[in-house]
Amino acid sequence: METLWSDFLNSEWHDWKGSGRSEDRLGQEKWQRYFLTQWQLPAPVPADEDTVAAMRSFRERLHGMSVRLAAGKTLAEEDFAYLNSILDKGAVKRRIEPESGSVRMRLLGVGENWEQVMAEVAASFAETLIRGEGARIRICENPDCRWIFYDDTRNRTKKYCDHKMCGNLMKVRRFRAKRREEGRS
Ligand SMILES: [Zn+2]
Repeated sequence: METLWSDFLNSEWHDWKGSGRSEDRLGQEKWQRYFLTQWQLPAPVPADEDTVAAMRSFRERLHGMSVRLAAGKTLAEEDFAYLNSILDKGAVKRRIEPESGSVRMRLLGVGENWEQVMAEVAASFAETLIRGEGARIRICENPDCRWIFYDDTRNRTKKYCDHKMCGNLMKVRRFRAKRREEGRS
């Protein structure tokens, strides 16, 4: 499942097919436009250089936390302090709305800038933690891919970002390795 925070992290793209190619899409106008449209967030495009640098550093921290959570570890006090420092930059207003026979409260971002966007990303990451689902954070087991995703399967055993792509590729690789092994003996 794609979440706001994992989509943000995956702006650092690696060719899952193993060409070794990778691309940092964060600074690209095309990616910025895609991201804002996808998550319905307003901010100026292109983001200026300082903002892109701030986003990269945020992405690196968030990536580090995801890797630790995916490895079954917990976050440190300083991680929470850091997340709060990002959340602080995005003020929200409250809005009450009817929702399928019930009522819900929505928090809407006030700022129309990338600081607000980063705060929304941090809030989405926080939501995953609040629901106690940090343990569902995964890194695709295809070493060339390393896509970060949220495992929404019931038995929590999803290994690859996409079983048709990375899953199949790894199956073929295992098969070939086994055949080579058999050829040798
Ligand atoms: Zn993958």
